[in-house]
Amino acid sequence: MAVQRIVIENCAVATVDAGDTEYASGHIVVADDLIESVGDGKAPDGLENVVRRIDGTGHLATPGLVNTHHHFYQWITRGLATDHNLFDWLVALYPTWARIDEPMVYAAAQGSLAMMARGGVTTAMDHHYVFPKGSGDLSGAVIRAARETGVRFTLARGSMDRGESDGGLPPDFAVETLEGALAATEATVDEHHDASFASMVQIAVAPCSPFSVSTELMRQGAELARRKGVRLHTHGSETVEEEQFCKELFGMGPTDYFESTGWLGEDVWMAHCVHMNDSDIAAFARTGTGVAHCPSSNARLAAGIARVPDMLAAGVPVGLGVDGTASNESGELHTELRNALLVNRLGAHREAALSARQALRLGTYGGARVLGRASQIGSLEAGKLADLVLWRLDTLAHASIADPVAALVLGAAAPVTLSLVNGRPVVEDGHLLHVDEDAVARSTRDEARRLARIAEKA
Ligand SMILES: [Zn+2]
Repeated sequence: MAVQRIVIENCAVATVDAGDTEYASGHIVVADDLIESVGDGKAPDGLENVVRRIDGTGHLATPGLVNTHHHFYQWITRGLATDHNLFDWLVALYPTWARIDEPMVYAAAQGSLAMMARGGVTTAMDHHYVFPKGSGDLSGAVIRAARETGVRFTLARGSMDRGESDGGLPPDFAVETLEGALAATEATVDEHHDASFASMVQIAVAPCSPFSVSTELMRQGAELARRKGVRLHTHGSETVEEEQFCKELFGMGPTDYFESTGWLGEDVWMAHCVHMNDSDIAAFARTGTGVAHCPSSNARLAAGIARVPDMLAAGVPVGLGVDGTASNESGELHTELRNALLVNRLGAHREAALSARQALRLGTYGGARVLGRASQIGSLEAGKLADLVLWRLDTLAHASIADPVAALVLGAAAPVTLSLVNGRPVVEDGHLLHVDEDAVARSTRDEARRLARIAEKA
């Protein structure tokens, strides 16, 4: 079949390429699943097989947003333990989380994905680490929801094997065995991981955190990922308490512990990384270890302010994450662009912390880099996959803001007129095309109530 083209014209374009090239009024030509050209002014004349021509007047085109840290299942445990710090919050919620089953996880994934896709996310990720016995095929359910929503997806297959009786934080009934977790993770990679250029589903190996996972699971998880050629993900250096936990149990801080278990490297990215000293940041930079910065969650749980400007200056790859929606009830990534910028300006760097363009880069190219997909997505460049968003900036909220990138990052959450994944529309005029938003709202409410009832009885 002949190539089919979509032409977008008359919009501002922020390519987020290496030189931050922007056009005040530019064009993008999409040919099947690829970006064929991006440039100033109108699209070239004489293009054949143009199936759709879009007038982008009043809009900004950017790469689709890339989320690098999330826990979908938490969509049905939002609004609980709202005044707790991380460890107290975890202890409060583990007993409820340990009762999840496949229909709950599927509904929660649909809710999480719908919320993100509607707000311009074209690549989603889920770090799922709660696998109660007999709960069904949770990984399969999450992947099914991602395919149905139409977004690109990384499932970080998590695990916990350090229950309370081994000095860990989660209750014993919420954890797997070392052997069980490794075998199930390997089976998930074998069944679902697609390493191809335009892959829609990838799997990472993702033991939950130092305080819920044995040293052996960290070590063997790293070996498994490298044997399979997939990426590694976990939580790192989130709170002061975690640092103390590592020092007491392992005789070293989190970064040294990660290094000792094979967990620093170009194929690793970690959520949070709030409590990092200069030598921790240097170790991440030296090894190419990536960071998923989650500003709203870090604020919600009073974890602290990650040193993102220092990480960027040192060359650490940094993306953005919403984190699970039990610690960031909104679950939207486009608002995290703004929060990343604002939160970092409250830190040590004051007004020199992050620019609006750096914030946009974190949410696009930076995310693609930490997911290992920077050669395929994350910027608008010819030859890359056509994952892009057309943001509407000509209404009350944004029409009088001079700079379109500042409007997107600093203004109210901008509506999405169109988002494409692999050149295929996922959102049109603010509505999801492949998912019934109201039906998802109902099923997530029903499953949240069912979980609350089961947890109450337990
Ligand atoms: Zn998390």
